[in-house]
Amino acid sequence: MSARPFAFLFLSGVFRVVVIVPLIFFVGCGEPTTEHPVTAERIINADSEPGNWLSHGRTYDEQRFSPLTQINDGNVADLGLAWHFDIDTTRAMEATPLIADGVMYVTAAWSVLYALDASTGTPLWKYDPQVPKSWSTYACCDVPNRGAALWGDMVYVATLDGYLAAVDAATGTEVWKVDTIDRQAPFTITGAPRVVKGKVIIGNGGAEYGVRGFVSAFDAETGELIWKTYIVPGNPADGFESDALRMAADTWSGEWWTMGGGGTAWDSFAYDPELDLLYVGTGNGSPWNREVRSPGGGDNLFLSSILALRPDTGEYVWHYQTTPGDTWDYTATQHMILADIDFGGGVRKVLMQAPKNGFFYVLDRQTGKLISADAYVPLNWASHVDLDTGRPVELEGARYEQNYKVIFPSSWGGHNWHPMSYSPHTGLVYIPLLGQAETFANSKEFAFIENHLNLGLDFEESSKVTPEELAEHPEIAVRISAWDPVARKEVFRIDSGSAWNAGVLSTAGNLVFQGEASGEFAAYAADSGEQLWSTYANTGIMAPPVTFEVDGEQYVTVVGGWGIFMGMFEGDPTADESRDAIGRVLTYKLGAKATLPRATAETRPLPELPDIETTVEQIGHGAVLYGARCAWCHGVNARGTGSVADLRYATEETHAIWTAIVLDGAYVPRGMPVFGEVLTEQEALAIQAYVLDEARQLRR
Ligand code: CA
Repeated sequence: MSARPFAFLFLSGVFRVVVIVPLIFFVGCGEPTTEHPVTAERIINADSEPGNWLSHGRTYDEQRFSPLTQINDGNVADLGLAWHFDIDTTRAMEATPLIADGVMYVTAAWSVLYALDASTGTPLWKYDPQVPKSWSTYACCDVPNRGAALWGDMVYVATLDGYLAAVDAATGTEVWKVDTIDRQAPFTITGAPRVVKGKVIIGNGGAEYGVRGFVSAFDAETGELIWKTYIVPGNPADGFESDALRMAADTWSGEWWTMGGGGTAWDSFAYDPELDLLYVGTGNGSPWNREVRSPGGGDNLFLSSILALRPDTGEYVWHYQTTPGDTWDYTATQHMILADIDFGGGVRKVLMQAPKNGFFYVLDRQTGKLISADAYVPLNWASHVDLDTGRPVELEGARYEQNYKVIFPSSWGGHNWHPMSYSPHTGLVYIPLLGQAETFANSKEFAFIENHLNLGLDFEESSKVTPEELAEHPEIAVRISAWDPVARKEVFRIDSGSAWNAGVLSTAGNLVFQGEASGEFAAYAADSGEQLWSTYANTGIMAPPVTFEVDGEQYVTVVGGWGIFMGMFEGDPTADESRDAIGRVLTYKLGAKATLPRATAETRPLPELPDIETTVEQIGHGAVLYGARCAWCHGVNARGTGSVADLRYATEETHAIWTAIVLDGAYVPRGMPVFGEVLTEQEALAIQAYVLDEARQLRR
């Protein structure tokens, strides 16, 4: 792990954190031959056809565990590359592929959907919803898409710019497309839809920018809106949409609705067909800082919560709030796993989650009652969760009202969107951990600006943190923590050289599969963590692997490509010759021997720099502004991400029109946002001075 970008992160206060069908066909020799729709029964009985992966988490309980055993701990060393399919993007790739009857459906950056022959990688069709590049202005964390959904004869994909599309699974032809958002508000969608009882369920993101989160359900056949459930209350003067929101409004103060309130459900869902409950993980407040969002305090329901809803109506049944009055971006949008586990007193129906706040929760999923909550990473904002009240016991100063404060976990969380996996065979939950600290400081002069980043934090203040203070919070780099939910503790961990992480798959072959930012893709023994196999993808990996079977042969697939997040933490990815930042679908099987093209990373020529004079004060001021406004996309320390321009390589021509690009939107067509409303010309030039200074350092 590289220490420098982290140091910058803390000093700048930047953090980012950073989700079926009358016809799917059998494919023999790449030719669709038999109509075979995906239905509720097929998804509910997924274990009776373990060769397919029909829903985001494979099953409605989202365990991401496969019963397949052909590839196992005894022969995984013989796993080799069967095929790869390159996708022309260097932006974030986070998708879970779906596999139905020999066809793979995989989504890519910019919400593009591909259908591939699952055993050969041969492309069958491509659906590009033509997301305007300018919409990336509203995307906190690159432009990924975490997956599609199957139902009947259709594939569903939600788009970055807020649409939901139904596509013919056989041809890739759009059947319908509906707008799920208010187009005046900065909503984005990166998560995968789920289909429950013929309804396509989708949420959205945008709580960093000022939105009121909601979940909606659309008729899978027609695209008609069936219900829409808001997560936080709106303006009480307008009346409340439900009794639940009336109750929630009592936990807010001030005029939160003018800033959206947040709570966006941007990734996780799960469904229990027996209880007929749809579980929704909800996000952080908008803005982050409760002091400015709800100045009188309060729990701010239903932020950072797990909500149980009726899938037919969207009606509230129960909630459990993981972080009351969230002020650290501690979302509860992280992966939820449903399982039936014997804790000693008989089998209980539970829901498990490791949300960003650092506690691993086990809830009774019928009632929402807390069973246990234990720290799965070091944390310093709360001492423990009181099992009687179900509430965390916060530590003094954690809310950073008066002074800047170093908090652990960071707003990236102890665990982010990277899916976990639960193996009923080992009884372990495999959690991809993150281990950064972050400096928070209260913005005493906060002013909300519509459609822009609104966190309510003071970056100038948080940049005052000293190296000694940061050193008290050592970062951890852990690939996987194998967590026992019954014993309530970690059984073993697999360490990592990387600060970012990737999704996990476990199988009945006593295996756990996971990729890494370095491009390594590895298999471990599920019961011990021993590494049994690894290979290189020649591109960084964040996405979770899947496994499936075609014609009696088991395959393992993972999507490579890392995008912005990785760049921020790892610096310039092209510095490592072993990897590119390209999108790539990789599929492995026993005995296969296909090879990958060599990574194309090479030393880039350094363009001439303009002769612009800069001062130390300008550079220092620019560094703070860069950290607050630019590093999210362009990378920490101005070290490019491989996916968005490395500003140290900006040409004289680019520097000549700097303010036109930053303030006036000259590069909007390329996806560069406009900062004219939030930066002055003097500030834009300070950022330029900082970038030039970094560029000059590169040339020394
Ligand atoms: Ca967030």
